[in-house]
Amino acid sequence: MRTKIIAGNWKMNNDFDAGLKLASEVFYMANDEILNPNIKVIMAPPFIHLEALSRRKPINHKLAIAAQNCSEHSHGAYTGEVSAAMIKSTGAEYIIIGHSERRAYHHENGEQLANKVNQALQQELIPIFCCGEELSIREANTPIDFVKKQIEEALFHLDAESFKPLVIAYEPIWAIGTGKTASSTQAQEMHAAIRDCIAQKYGKEIAGGMSILYGGSCNPGNASELFAQADVDGGLIGGASLKSRDFLAIAKALQAS
Ligand code: PEP
Repeated sequence: MRTKIIAGNWKMNNDFDAGLKLASEVFYMANDEILNPNIKVIMAPPFIHLEALSRRKPINHKLAIAAQNCSEHSHGAYTGEVSAAMIKSTGAEYIIIGHSERRAYHHENGEQLANKVNQALQQELIPIFCCGEELSIREANTPIDFVKKQIEEALFHLDAESFKPLVIAYEPIWAIGTGKTASSTQAQEMHAAIRDCIAQKYGKEIAGGMSILYGGSCNPGNASELFAQADVDGGLIGGASLKSRDFLAIAKALQAS
């Protein structure tokens, strides 16, 4: 059975106190209300929160902390960067890699993302690898080829054992922060195509065991329909992860799916 995952990407929001408050609410509610042991509730705050949240997290395998990025280098003279080893030392367990905002504003390319994935795996951190097309590519009817290429470029250098723990998040760029979500049919079609592409490279067993998340304006109102799709194993949530009640409502929709 695949792990179902709900991951909240806080992006660049919440100062130290606001972050502790939000995380405490999520910890408290998730502890009480998310009882399915097959569900992971992950929060991805800015770097400044990683250590405090990891430390305050109740001992509970359902809950985990993720970073939003890591350096492609292991250490050294890279001012302002944070390495995977540093992230590991905070107690975080996951790293979001390849978010479309990092690709767009920091010009991250497939080769750099492959290096970041390697750095994460060397520290036994699990990459949540983001992929997704712009509107022009969707309108040109080539989103599947585009997303497959993103996955091949950044991930297909891995051997099967290294690839196995990864999580993929399909996030169509036109749906991120726009209030315009992909239809459940569009999401299912893409997730099935991603799984098929992985099966061709790594075999059906690994592809069948991978968690593939949907991201892009997912909210308590549309989560149930998205999570009802056979190949949608959860969500990467931006805006709605900043309100504990909304985030928990989405987690509960996943639990009910
Ligand atoms: C995201 O940025 O990963 C995301 C899914 O954002 P939102 O839910 O706000 O569209």
